[in-house]
Amino acid sequence: MDIKITKTTTPKEKPDSSVLGFGKYFTDHMFMMDYSRDKGWYNARIVPFENISLHPASTVLHYGSEIFEGLKAYRRKDGEVQLFRPIENIRRMNTSADRLCLPQIPEEDALTALTTFVATEKDWTPAAEGTSLYLRPFMYGNDETLGVHAVHNATFVIIASPVGSYYKEGINPVKIMIEDQDVRAVRGGTGYAKCGGNYAASNRAGERAEKQGYSQVLWLDGVERKYIEEVGAMNVMFKIDGKIVTPMLSGSILPGITRKSCIEVLKGKGFTVEERLLSIDELEEALKSGKLEEAWGCGTAAVVSPIGELCYKGEKFTINGGKIGEVTQSLYDTLTGIQWGKIADTFGWTMPIK
Ligand SMILES: *Cc1c(COP(=O)(O)O)cnc(C)c1O
Repeated sequence: MDIKITKTTTPKEKPDSSVLGFGKYFTDHMFMMDYSRDKGWYNARIVPFENISLHPASTVLHYGSEIFEGLKAYRRKDGEVQLFRPIENIRRMNTSADRLCLPQIPEEDALTALTTFVATEKDWTPAAEGTSLYLRPFMYGNDETLGVHAVHNATFVIIASPVGSYYKEGINPVKIMIEDQDVRAVRGGTGYAKCGGNYAASNRAGERAEKQGYSQVLWLDGVERKYIEEVGAMNVMFKIDGKIVTPMLSGSILPGITRKSCIEVLKGKGFTVEERLLSIDELEEALKSGKLEEAWGCGTAAVVSPIGELCYKGEKFTINGGKIGEVTQSLYDTLTGIQWGKIADTFGWTMPIK
């Protein structure tokens, strides 16, 4: 794949790492390429970061044909920059594309686009503890007609944002509300795809939980509202009576790369990990009997996020005294250690950027 690179003539000043936050600042360039059914992917380019112009009838604005990914470039202590399991994001994006009738990108081309772009923006990877360069690949349908059908035209873009440490004030467990009204996804729907529509539909429950002092919701399955699915936009894991239990990938759950990595690390440490249905009744029973030892969410942004309190139908349960558990902490240390190059990557998960 040929990528035409046009460098900006007005590079921006890089923000100080103390003010970064999440997704507020963007780098000097972006990657773009276009697709049409006749030509396939064409015009791969890295151009100065700028607004995107859309036809007012563009498919994405009316029918929500949009998918995205999220991954990070990490600056190691020795100054090198590396990605974490990028091929997993690329494969998942193609799975999402298939569900939304958006075009596939050959894995090698997507990886070339990503690594070439990160190499261009490498200097934007901050070095302060816990900071990283967040990468947001996304694709949208862009037919210039109001007809409803699988799109014939699409655009793929990658933007990058230097982001601050998720845990500036240390890892504090969060309070989670179990959502018993809205659902995020159903089997056969788009739950396993990383698409913008899933987020649009989940904001209402998130808002309600926030108003009551909770930081996220725990989703139940869309049919029986009985089985645990995810927490906010993270996968969820529990330590029950010494074993690790996490909802199986049933079709309505996003197959997280952090989830997958946690499972592999935990199995390597000798834990039994059960990927299965976990009902709210079983969870309630484990909470009441004291067998629920730890609970945490996992995703690229936070790595792991310990859950200190769960609220279900008005009843509140504290987990591990509201403190981060041993397994949660060790997962955090192992994964961040590999990502920032502080410990040996025995899994072969990291990819250095030249
Ligand atoms: C992105 C995402 C996750 C986490 O996936 P990672 O690959 O670990 O970042 C979990 N749930 C939802 C709904 C997501 O969108």
